[in-house]
Amino acid sequence: MAVLDQLTSQQAIDLENKYGAHNYQPLPVVLTKGEGVFVWDVEGKKYYDFLSAYSAVNQGHCHPKIVSAMVQQAQTLTLTSRAFHNDMLGKYEKFACEFFGFDKLLPMNTGAEAVETALKLCRKWAYEVKGIDENQAEIVVCENNFHGRTTTIISFSNDAVARENFGPYTNGFIKIEYDNLKALEEVLKSNPNVAGFLVEPIQGEAGVYVPGDDYLAKAKALCETYNVLFIADEVQTGIARTGRLLATCGNCSCENKNCSETPEVKPDVLILGKAISGGVYPVSAVLANDEVMKVIKPGNHGSTFGGNPVAAAVAMAALEVVRDENLAKNAFELGNLFRNELNKYIASSNIVKLVRGKGLLNAIVINDTEDSDTAWNICLALRDNGLLAKPTHGNIIRFAPPLVMTKEQLLDCVNIITKTLKQFEN
Ligand SMILES: *Cc1c(COP(=O)(O)O)cnc(C)c1O
Repeated sequence: MAVLDQLTSQQAIDLENKYGAHNYQPLPVVLTKGEGVFVWDVEGKKYYDFLSAYSAVNQGHCHPKIVSAMVQQAQTLTLTSRAFHNDMLGKYEKFACEFFGFDKLLPMNTGAEAVETALKLCRKWAYEVKGIDENQAEIVVCENNFHGRTTTIISFSNDAVARENFGPYTNGFIKIEYDNLKALEEVLKSNPNVAGFLVEPIQGEAGVYVPGDDYLAKAKALCETYNVLFIADEVQTGIARTGRLLATCGNCSCENKNCSETPEVKPDVLILGKAISGGVYPVSAVLANDEVMKVIKPGNHGSTFGGNPVAAAVAMAALEVVRDENLAKNAFELGNLFRNELNKYIASSNIVKLVRGKGLLNAIVINDTEDSDTAWNICLALRDNGLLAKPTHGNIIRFAPPLVMTKEQLLDCVNIITKTLKQFEN
C-alpha cells in the first residue's frame, strides 16, 4: 500500500488497531478533510463537528487566516530553540499579554505541559515569595478534575483508568469537592502550606459541570485572604468557548458586554492551550503578573519547541480571528439558543434528563444508568445522521461545535440532535 493511496474507513481503522497503541477508543469514523464547522470522512460523507477536537478548533477547521500564517512562517523560520532569540516570540508574547491582561507569558506546547508549568511556578513562588518551608508546599485541586495526562497530573486525578498502575504518584496535592466554597475555606484555614488552588472554571471532561455563579469570584477572594495563588486551567473553557474570551474573564480585551451573568475574576496564573492555536498546531501558555513570574530564572524550565516562531505566528493569527469574528459573542448567543431549543425538546422527552453548559460548551445527560451504552449508541446514530459528538463519562454527551457556526447551522444541528434522540425514546 503506497503512502498516498486513499484508504477506506475500515482500512484506516485496521491500520490504527494493528500499529497504534490502543490508548483511545475513537468513534468509528475516519476523517480526511475539514472546513469551518464541517468535516468529511474518507467516503465523502459530510458531518457537523460537535466536538471541535475538545474545543481546540474554536475558530473552525482550517481557518484560512491561521493556516496562511502558519504556511508563511513555516517557509521562513520554524525552530531556533530558545538557545537563540527569534523575531516572532517577543511579538507574540506582547500580543497575548495585552490580549489577556497579564505582564508575562511562558510558552509551552500542550495543555498538560502548561499545567505542569503552572504547578512548578506555584511551588517556586511558595518557597521564594510566600516563604513556605522546603518541600512542604501543597496545591489544592478539585475532585473529578481533568488537567492532562502526565505522571504528576494523574497523581491528583480521580479517574481510576487514568491512574491505575501508573504509580508511584507525586505528592503535594489536596483534593476538595468542586463548587464547594466551605471545603476550600476549610483547607486554606487549616493548612498554612497551601500555595495554590488549581481549578477549571467549568469541569469539561467531568461532564460540563458549571459551578454556582459566585463560585469563582468567592474562591479567588478566599485565595487572596490566605495568600494562595488562584490558578485557572482554561485550556478547554478559554478562547471564547463559554461565550466570553475567558470563562474567568479577568481584565481581558473581550468586547462582549452581555456576558455579565458571572462576575469577572482575574486569576493569578492563567493556563491556556487548545484553541489558542485554532487547532492547527500545538500551542499552550501560562500567563501571570511579574510578582509571580519573576521567580522563573534561566534553566528553571523550558521546552525545545515552546515559543517557536510557527507557534507564535499561529497563536497571534488564531487570537485575531477570535477578536475580529466576534466569536465570544457568537458563542454566547448561539449557546443560549441551543439550550433553549434543547430544553423545549427535553420538556416532552424521557430520554434526556437535562442540558447544561455555558456558551457553546454544553452537555446533555442521558436518562439511563452511568454504565449503560446508550450515550455511545446515540453518538453512533448522530454520526449516521451527520453530526459528530462523543460521550464523556458514561451517560453524558458533550456538545461543543466550532464557534464560527451560524444560527441557521445551529438550528439544523438541533434538528439532527432531536430527531436522533427521538429514535431512542421508549
Ligand atoms: C485538554 C485539557 C488539558 C490537557 O491538554 P493536552 O493538550 O491534551 O495536554 C488540560 N486541562 C484541561 C481543562 C483540558 O481540557
